[in-house]
Amino acid sequence: MKKIDVAIIGAGPAGIGISAMLKDLGVMSQVVLERRKIGESFNNWPKEMKLITPSFTTNFYGHLDLNSIISATSPAYTLRKEHPSGQEYAKYLKAVSEYYKLPIIEDANVDGINYSNNRFTVKIEGTELIESRYVIWASGEFHYPKLKTFKGAELCIHNSQVRSWDSLEGNEFYIIGGFESGIDAAVNLSRLGKKVNVLDRSAPWGEHTTDPSISLSPFTLERLREQMDYGRINLVEKTDIKNVTKKGSQFFINVKGETEQYISETTPILATGFKSSLGIIKNLFDWDNEKSYALLTDDDESTKTPGLFLVGPQVRHENLIFCFIYKYRQRFGVVANSIGKKLGIDTQVLEKYRHEGLYLDDLSCCGDECDC
Ligand SMILES: Cc1cc2nc3c(=O)[nH]c(=O)nc-3n(C[C@H](O)[C@H](O)[C@H](O)COP(=O)(O)OP(=O)(O)OC[C@H]3O[C@@H](n4cnc5c(N)ncnc54)[C@H](O)[C@@H]3O)c2cc1C
Repeated sequence: MKKIDVAIIGAGPAGIGISAMLKDLGVMSQVVLERRKIGESFNNWPKEMKLITPSFTTNFYGHLDLNSIISATSPAYTLRKEHPSGQEYAKYLKAVSEYYKLPIIEDANVDGINYSNNRFTVKIEGTELIESRYVIWASGEFHYPKLKTFKGAELCIHNSQVRSWDSLEGNEFYIIGGFESGIDAAVNLSRLGKKVNVLDRSAPWGEHTTDPSISLSPFTLERLREQMDYGRINLVEKTDIKNVTKKGSQFFINVKGETEQYISETTPILATGFKSSLGIIKNLFDWDNEKSYALLTDDDESTKTPGLFLVGPQVRHENLIFCFIYKYRQRFGVVANSIGKKLGIDTQVLEKYRHEGLYLDDLSCCGDECDC
């Protein structure tokens, strides 16, 4: 059995970013295990979907591009795009992996991890086992869509299963869920001249807070306003879906507490979000009371399993949600520092990452509102 110091699961921005930082720290005994190909999630985005967080070549003045995952790189510079598509961003991830010569193993789907005697045994589907002293879970959410949110949800199509909005036949669509993914779908369908109804149990398009994890991004609001002028998008709030049924070629969308139903000639689209890849190793974590997020130490290590770290959008500390690249990359330094120290490495080299927004260990600074 191959024995290493660090196994990183997932070669998306989180896995690649932390791997590059560990390499800079001198952690050479590491592998990144990727179920398919580098940047797999981004490669599978609908082709019209773009990053909502803008990229800009701010590095020159000491501010890392908002979508960079490691120093001295910038998607804006590499791709010459402010809002890269998923496929374009995957090219940036590949470029970083090649530049840093990261030890990525593709087509290595991790289907379980055992922990005993301070060692992890990482199980890769259909092949060998790897023994590792530390594990960093970076498998994201995209491959784990919420598909069972109400009865009949299996009759619908989840937005992550659509490769291009152009490929859907029909003239009118119902989208269930009106946050970023739902509005993105609505905008793209409207651009194709389709009529779209967006049903949501609240009204995310009306939220106005400074945390983009809670309200729509300016990029999405701008696109929505532009398409609303064409009169093809109908936003319906307070529609909590009870179930979806199908008779012949028609779909019936029933809403809780209402007798009226929506009848759709096209397959309803689910934009109901994602579960967590942590389901695969949920027993290695303690969970908060509602079981909605894994409990982590100040070093983003599992409170239950020492040596198991989490990076990426699933990192959460009470009301601080690290679901964007510019947010969760700030915790790379914290994880690298903790692992470096455990391995007996001098972690001084990590200090340079602080001013680049890649090493934030004092969370008391987060959460300030904008005054104007
Ligand atoms: C639709 C959508 C749009 C988003 N838009 C933005 C945006 O504009 N800006 C932004 O900052 N954030 C955005 N996000 C947030 C997003 O979560 C992150 O930007 C990013 O994808 C998370 O990076 P990651 O590396 O954790 O996960 P991913 O990019 O999903 O990478 C995880 C990798 O792990 C692999 N993997 C999964 N399971 C296994 C396994 N069992 N074994 C081995 N490998 C595995 C996957 O194949 C994948 O390559 C968006 C998220 C979604 C879902």
